[in-house]
Amino acid sequence: MKIALLLAGLALAGVSSHASAADNCTVKIKANDAMQYDIKTATVSASCPAITIELTHTGKMPVAAMGHNVVVSQTVLYDAIARDGQKAGAAAGYVPKNDPRVIAATALIGGGQSTKTTFAGSRLKAGGDYAFYCSFPGHATLMRGKLIVVK
Ligand code: ZN
Repeated sequence: MKIALLLAGLALAGVSSHASAADNCTVKIKANDAMQYDIKTATVSASCPAITIELTHTGKMPVAAMGHNVVVSQTVLYDAIARDGQKAGAAAGYVPKNDPRVIAATALIGGGQSTKTTFAGSRLKAGGDYAFYCSFPGHATLMRGKLIVVK
């Protein structure tokens, strides 16, 4: 009897972890005119064939004044990527072009717009230290979160 219950419990655990892995393939983030994301952490699964990041700018200000994007990288690489992004300038969305350190980057958008980007979960390692942030000059001080990666 005890063994049967244990097996049932394991089966349930297996089902639920599978379901949550599927749920961890899309991240929805809202950004506003007060230079804020609506979330501080997001969880994704490295086993997702494709991870989608959806960004909605709920504000009204134009991209030149209050542009927002979502860039994903290892946390330790953030400073260097931000520096190179400033050099790349507005036309590049403040993201260095074809940079292997950049795991994902959405377009830079203004108020009322939305955008998304997709990348392979295999680019992330479970348990790694990753961040997501807005690369618009000065924004990442406030617009920065932790990307938690599970298997
Ligand atoms: Zn921003």
